[in-house]
Amino acid sequence: MNKWQLFIAGEFRPGGRRECFPDYHPATGAVTAEVALATPDDCDAAVTAAKQALSAWRRFPVAERARLLRRVAEGIEARSAEFLQAEVADTGKPCALARTLDIPRGAANFRIFADLAAGLATECFETATDDGAGALNYGLRRPLGVVGVICPWNLPLLLLTWKIAPALVMGNTVVVKPSEETPATATLLGEVMTAAGVPPGVYNVVHGFGPGSVGEWLVAHPDVAAITFTGETRTGQAIMRTAAARTKRLSFELGGKNAAIVFADADFDRAVAGVARSSFLNGGQVCLCSERVYVERPVFERFVDALALAARQLRPGPPEDETTTLGPLISAAHREKVLGYYAAARAAGAEIHAGGGCPALPPPYDQGYFVEPTVWTGLPEDTPCIVEEIFGPVCHVAPFDTEEEAVALANAGDYGLCAALWTRDLARAHRVAHALDVGVVWINSWFLRDLRTPFGGMKLSGIGREGGRHSLEFYSEIKNVCVKL
Ligand code: NAD
Repeated sequence: MNKWQLFIAGEFRPGGRRECFPDYHPATGAVTAEVALATPDDCDAAVTAAKQALSAWRRFPVAERARLLRRVAEGIEARSAEFLQAEVADTGKPCALARTLDIPRGAANFRIFADLAAGLATECFETATDDGAGALNYGLRRPLGVVGVICPWNLPLLLLTWKIAPALVMGNTVVVKPSEETPATATLLGEVMTAAGVPPGVYNVVHGFGPGSVGEWLVAHPDVAAITFTGETRTGQAIMRTAAARTKRLSFELGGKNAAIVFADADFDRAVAGVARSSFLNGGQVCLCSERVYVERPVFERFVDALALAARQLRPGPPEDETTTLGPLISAAHREKVLGYYAAARAAGAEIHAGGGCPALPPPYDQGYFVEPTVWTGLPEDTPCIVEEIFGPVCHVAPFDTEEEAVALANAGDYGLCAALWTRDLARAHRVAHALDVGVVWINSWFLRDLRTPFGGMKLSGIGREGGRHSLEFYSEIKNVCVKL
């Protein structure tokens, strides 16, 4: 059985009280690892190590930090089989998915921010003065200090590296708290950091839980300058309350209840395949997944039938089997939550076109946390199944008659992360994209990412943008220097 330890000041350590918690394989329910539980003293040691490493790391030339990050990317690639195995044991997701999405993006995140940091410019203004000599203002970017990085379980390595690569290249040091459900790849990354030559203390990992535990201690720690968080909106609100005591800088990538809009003129087959992907990828456990699908009435029934067929064709099963296309949910508790929505939809009178329960699988996968991909119609727009984020392989499909109605339906609700539009009418595509209250719109695609672009949500879906220069700006303070000439 694996043991995932804390990684502090370049060393792997057990927790101060030698306590551990179990790490489950979601596809089988088996315990695959023991995870060291950090104490408040361990958290303090991690923050102290990060603080001590800061003075040297921030003085490294950007090019040198970028060079080390590129070596980290190479290190992930060289050990991709180990990262793949660790990520799959933690999440149960199909190897085919983790091999093509999670692990390569983990490496790519280091390369893109290494490249971008080298070209980051700051502003310069010439200012008139009464004596005619003028003044010159120029900006300097400096690191924030120790950054606390708090991550979710759905795309563990991808989302972790999305934060730490820009934080490190801008000269910050980090203390990472991975999700308690997925501690493995963040821990392995400690070995890669050391092998790449990243100095001890620049990257630290502490394991544990959220409220009243490692997550909260990190947010409250006086020497942590900023918190970058991806997770549920409610957790973000709790973090905000704790961080308020020291008015810490916050980056929040929170929940979503995203819409897909399919117009009758869309390429029908591409739209069906696209919405099947946007509803069910990673078992629906991507913040960007579409849980509300609005289809123009002339193609509504045909679309529902085709989407239900696509849902039924997904194959749950062993992650290692290359024909598996649907993984489990992350935990027994999350499966209970998702099945609660399945029951609520049935009780509210939903018509169930696919799924609605749990698949029958042979041992040991019958002990895993699988649910069927599910397609509903017929629910009123104000039911919890349509208003609240479910985070499972499920969507509700409803008809619309006009473009204005589609926009109003998509914009209803408290979230505003992303939307996907399917149409061949380019003018309409732009018009609707401009009218949607979301941070990211995809037209005739979904989850097509260029890492230079701004990424983040409106309303309850987040604060700020990450990606490209937006990340580099978040992870640095800009200082204006005014020189009287
Ligand atoms: P979560 O909010 O339950 O947990 C995320 C992390 O926060 C975990 O590491 C957890 O231990 C920690 N945490 C919990 N309470 C805390 C507290 N009071 N103080 C400090 N830390 C605390 O989220 P999850 O269930 O791991 O992930 C799923 C959620 O993440 C979904 O809502 C999904 O939409 C969201 N998500 C958003 C994005 C995005 O980019 N917007 C991306 C992925 C996931």
